[in-house]
This record gives sequence, C-alpha cells and structure tokens, in this order.
Amino acid sequence: LSAEAEAVLEEIEEKNVDFLRLQFTDILGVVKNVSVPAEQAEKAFTEGIYFDGSSIDGFVRIQESDMRLVPDPSTFSILPWRSREDIEGGNSARLICDVHDTSTDQPFSGDPRGVLKDALARAEEMGYEVNAAPEPEFFLFEEDEDGRATTKTNDAGGYFDLAPKDLASDVRRDIIYGLEDMGFEIEASHHEVAQGQHEINFTYDDALSTADNVATFRSVVRAIAAEHDLHATFMPKPIPRINGSGMHTHISLFDDDGNAFHDEDDEFNLSETAKQFTAGILEHAPALAAVTNPTVNSYKRLVPGYEAPVYVAWSDRNRSALIRKPAARVPAASRIEARFPDPSCNPYLAFAVLIHAGLDGIEQGLDCPDPVRENIYEFDEAKREEYGIDTLPTNLGEAVDELEKDEVVSDALGPHIAEKFVEAKREEFKDYLVDVSQWELDRYLETF
Ligand code: GLU
Ligand code: MG
Ligand code: MG
Repeated sequence: LSAEAEAVLEEIEEKNVDFLRLQFTDILGVVKNVSVPAEQAEKAFTEGIYFDGSSIDGFVRIQESDMRLVPDPSTFSILPWRSREDIEGGNSARLICDVHDTSTDQPFSGDPRGVLKDALARAEEMGYEVNAAPEPEFFLFEEDEDGRATTKTNDAGGYFDLAPKDLASDVRRDIIYGLEDMGFEIEASHHEVAQGQHEINFTYDDALSTADNVATFRSVVRAIAAEHDLHATFMPKPIPRINGSGMHTHISLFDDDGNAFHDEDDEFNLSETAKQFTAGILEHAPALAAVTNPTVNSYKRLVPGYEAPVYVAWSDRNRSALIRKPAARVPAASRIEARFPDPSCNPYLAFAVLIHAGLDGIEQGLDCPDPVRENIYEFDEAKREEYGIDTLPTNLGEAVDELEKDEVVSDALGPHIAEKFVEAKREEFKDYLVDVSQWELDRYLETF
C-alpha cells in the first residue's frame, strides 16, 4: 500500500467513515458512484473494486462488461452534506477512481479521466505541465410542489449586486462552506449578469485535479442547493434572451523555467508558445465545440449579444472573442482564457481536447493571428471576411460533423470514446430535430 493510501485508511478510521463512494464519470460527464462499506477501503486500494460496466453510457458491450475501479488516494474527501450530526451513523467519503479493463488489466479506453491523463502525458513528453482553472456559472431555480425544477429564479439580483436583493447569497455561502470543507480554495463568488445566475471561482491546479474539482463542484452545488429547496442547473441556456452559463477555462503551461506562457517583452506578455497554443485552439475550435459545448442547448448560448463567444478569434480586451488574454498581475499568472466551453461538458474530455489542440499548435508551429480589439458582435459578414474570422458551429449537428472531420480532436478522444460520443450526440441531435418546440407552437399554431 502506498503511503498516501495508508493515510487515507487512517483518516477513515479517525473520522468514523462508514461508507465510501467510488466516483467516476461516463463519457457524457455524468458522475457515477459505486458505494462500498468503509471496511472495503484496503481491498479497493490493493485489488480495486469490480463492477459491471455494461449499464454505463458509452462504456462496454455486455460480453466484456467487467470493469475495475482503481481509487486515487489523493482525491479522498469527506462528503460534508452527508456527514453532519443530524444524520445518524458515521460519515460518508468519496474517492475518485480510474477505470481499468479487467480483461487486459490496462486503463480502460472509455474512461474520460484516462483520456485526460493521456493528454497530460503528451504535454509532459513535450516538457510541460498543464494548469487549468474554470469559471463555472449556474442558475438557481425554485422547485414546484412536487420538488421538480422550474425556471423561476428566487432572486432579482444582477451582476455583483449585494443583499438584500441577492437573496441567494445565503445559499451561495452554504455552497462555499461545503466546497471549503471538501478542500476547495475559493477565490471569488458573485451574482452573475442574469437573474438567478451565479459564479464561484476556485484556485487553479494541475488540469487533472481541476477536472476532478469540476465534477465535484457540480455535485456539491446541486446537493447544497437542494437543501435550500432550490434546483441548481448547469444547463448552458435555461432562459432564452438573457445570458447563458459558460465555463470559461483558463489554461497555462509550465516548464522547468516557470510559466511557459509568459514573455516580459511581448506586447501582450504572451510567449511564442502561448501564441502557438492559442493558434491550435483557434484552428480546431469548430471540432472542439462538439466536446466543450456538447448539448443541443449549448448552441443557444453561443449567439451574439450575451457575452458568449461566437467568432473564432482572440483578444486582449473584449469578451466577444473565443479566447481572451486576461490581465495578469504576476508572470506566473499569464494565461489564456477559453471562453467557449460551457458547464454541461465532460470536464475531463473538454480539457483533454483543448490541451491536444493547443499542443498541436505548438508542434506545428502555427502562426497566431492578430488579436481583434473591436466588438466582433458588431461586425457584418464582409468585415468578418476581411479579418478572416470564422464562426463556431451553429448547432450540435454541425459540431459533430466538424469533430468527425478533425483528426487531432478525434484522436484526442481515442477511438472508443470518439465513436461512442459521436453516436450518442448524433442520436441526441436527431431526437431534437423531430421535436416540435413551444416557440413553433407560439409562432404558427394560430397563424396557419
Ligand atoms: N455568462 C457569460 C457566458 O455565457 C459570461 C459572462 C462573463 O464574462 O463572466 O459565457
Ligand atoms: Mg462569469
Ligand atoms: Mg471569465
């Protein structure tokens, strides 16, 4: 047993943990749990815990369904909302796991966490460590009498409003306490632009820990909101014609000399490496969107006028561009901000494809276009053409077409996930196309 695993066993003893939730995600980013009594912890570390993967979306066929969960001891954490004096019995804790294939005893190619690890291994081979920090936004909605989510917001606050308008600040405070109990370091939280919309930022970390944190973050936010009889949603655009929810993702590469994205002498303080990485993301953006913006609803957010990007460009100023270079106070903070991802993505897959696309830009030595400083929302087509600015896919179907055409992004997912992902997303889009929406009824039912 590793020293880290030993320490976990001791903590389980000390903190009176009864149940362990072994956590992983399916390819759609849905968090799955296998719960085992705490006595199984040692066995989980030495042998792994076997489970049947055939019922997990995108995992395996029935005849090859045995999977093994291998817990990562560095992810041990008590679940605060399952662990209070008012709940009988001991505490519950969770461990995030890698999924292994029992027939080969190798990491399972359908495990998103494994896909991100592969991306980080490629970065390491090139001499880089990848840091990432997300800015997940979400809405808090009231529940109806049956406890189902509505789209009624429980406050009338606006950007950075303070109480008493920001009634949700109590909830946000409890969410932050819960996150802190789980080891998050919260940097800031505020009411976002839209009614009922919030953002909580936590400190950057290596990309794997950050992806783990995003998965945890979503569960904590939902669980604690539910205690206040509110529904937290990470759906990208729950209400039309107001801001949607993004998950801007800040990325930087570090090498032996420190921040490889920083250059003191550059006008934007961005190194050539950072610019090539940016160029890689811009080059592959249409295909990346299928993974970073993976739902039908994602494309209702990516429209002009709501601080979400639509155009494939970067900027050191404005928020209509796909990538922004935020101001950095210290060299270590030089980074780029990808503004297109939304919080319905699978964070492991989203970070993996972003990293591969950026590394591809470095490997190919791609030229970075000039930043665009004007508000691109106001450009007409002619002006966009003059500047050579592409647009993101306008719907999930187009994005999946782009993904299939782009070898770098498909390869980043690996053949297993690429196939299952495309299959699932095509199905989702087809189902949407045959549906008749409220908008159509409102527009046509009485007109024709
Ligand atoms: N809610 C906006 C989005 O959809 C972002 C607002 C902001 O800049 O934080 O990406
Ligand atoms: Mg925001
Ligand atoms: Mg931002």
